[in-house]
Amino acid sequence: MRIAVVGTGYVGLVTGTCFAEVGIDVTCIDIDVNKIENLKKGILPIYEPGLEEMVMRNTQKERLSFSNDLATSIQGCDVAFIAVGTPPGEDGSADLKHVLAVARAIGQHMTNYVVVVTKSTVPVGTANKVRTAIEQELEKRGANIPFDVASNPEFLKEGAAIDDFLKPDRIVVGVASQRAEEVMSKLYKPFLMNGHPLIFMDIPSAEMTKYAANAMLATKISFMNDIANLCEIMGADVNMVRKGIGSDVRIGNKFIYPGIGYGGSCFPKDVKALIKTASENGYEMRVLKSVEEVNENQKSVLFNKINNHFKGELAGKTFAVWGLSFKPKTDDMREAPSLVIINKLLEQGAKVKAYDPVAMKEASHTLGNTVEYGKDEYETLIDADALLLVTEWPEFRSPNFNVVSRLMKDKVVFDGRNIYDAAEMREKGFVYYGIGVKQQV
Ligand code: NAD
Repeated sequence: MRIAVVGTGYVGLVTGTCFAEVGIDVTCIDIDVNKIENLKKGILPIYEPGLEEMVMRNTQKERLSFSNDLATSIQGCDVAFIAVGTPPGEDGSADLKHVLAVARAIGQHMTNYVVVVTKSTVPVGTANKVRTAIEQELEKRGANIPFDVASNPEFLKEGAAIDDFLKPDRIVVGVASQRAEEVMSKLYKPFLMNGHPLIFMDIPSAEMTKYAANAMLATKISFMNDIANLCEIMGADVNMVRKGIGSDVRIGNKFIYPGIGYGGSCFPKDVKALIKTASENGYEMRVLKSVEEVNENQKSVLFNKINNHFKGELAGKTFAVWGLSFKPKTDDMREAPSLVIINKLLEQGAKVKAYDPVAMKEASHTLGNTVEYGKDEYETLIDADALLLVTEWPEFRSPNFNVVSRLMKDKVVFDGRNIYDAAEMREKGFVYYGIGVKQQV
């Protein structure tokens, strides 16, 4: 089979590379000339564990290629994936301009039957808009080429994207024709070896499934953050409560960790877009509105603890920040809670020294020189008034606390992810603040 993947970002590059890995002939297309030039030289635009080796291997085997030229690359393809960004518009709805631009380009240049598959996260009804855009372009050039549209939302997690793609919990595909279902079955067959289900459904349901999944996960996070905040007030320990409820199989132990609010490129925008879709159609998503509100509030929780501890006197203080990316194992800084916390500290005249294993370059695009970047986590601690644990990278879990103590000016730790044990930290002589645990007295 031959496929094109249009949009070579986190989703498109992983999708294209994983299809190439199982022997499919893939062209990854992007409008960003630099990105494609770099990819041709083996330089990846993103950090994703294991991806670089896989890109190299498949490029060498000539199953994976990169191009800015959709017009030629689309010719002869069985499937064209649309994997471009769908950022939030000003009103919170998903902006479909990139998706529809690609649909029009496909309509202008396709030469044979192709299944046009939306992999980007898009609201219900988008596949119809994609179909209309293609039909209009075909009509303009007087071409009568059959095609199908399909919806195949992506559930990969940054940081574990390759495994998620190669060994998916499930693959969801929305189709409106037998022919499209057959093509998509053939395409995904290599990924079903271990019994992972390929679930076919109608297109609107597939489009909705992605939003429902992300909205449910965001809800779990906000729910736990709300419980954590109440635990603090009531003198309970959310870590215990989490274990207590997580052992109930109906609840499950995943995604119930409190913290400093969800971020990233998906949850914030997808929750907003679903609220917007509903309101446009006369329905109010009351739960999700609260999920969003709790999350906004949670992004300030760590700063408020810092501000209280230092009695509002933050000017001139130095803060070591461990972790910048919105979660571990990615360099993605989109909507990262670290940005909110750092900006609040800077506004108060504090100094920030940050370290992240992979996201410092990406972070510098937003933060510039307003913060100092450490060469490792320990360097950020020199003369620090406090340490802020913001992203739970594995390497931050068990630092040498003797060295940490020695380097810091003041032994105060604000743990935004509850990765340290409060009692142990206090035994080691640290003033320790976690989320939803008994606060330092
Ligand atoms: P991204 O910003 O990393 O990549 C998008 C790419 O599309 C960019 O390289 C951009 O240059 C390219 N592009 C834009 N317009 C184009 C055009 N007209 N022609 C060709 N290329 C074009 O975005 P992403 O994180 O990969 O997300 C893509 C979609 O997948 C979004 O809808 C997102 O919600 C969804 N999604 C993302 C994730 C994730 O973890 N990042 C997971 C599941 C779903």
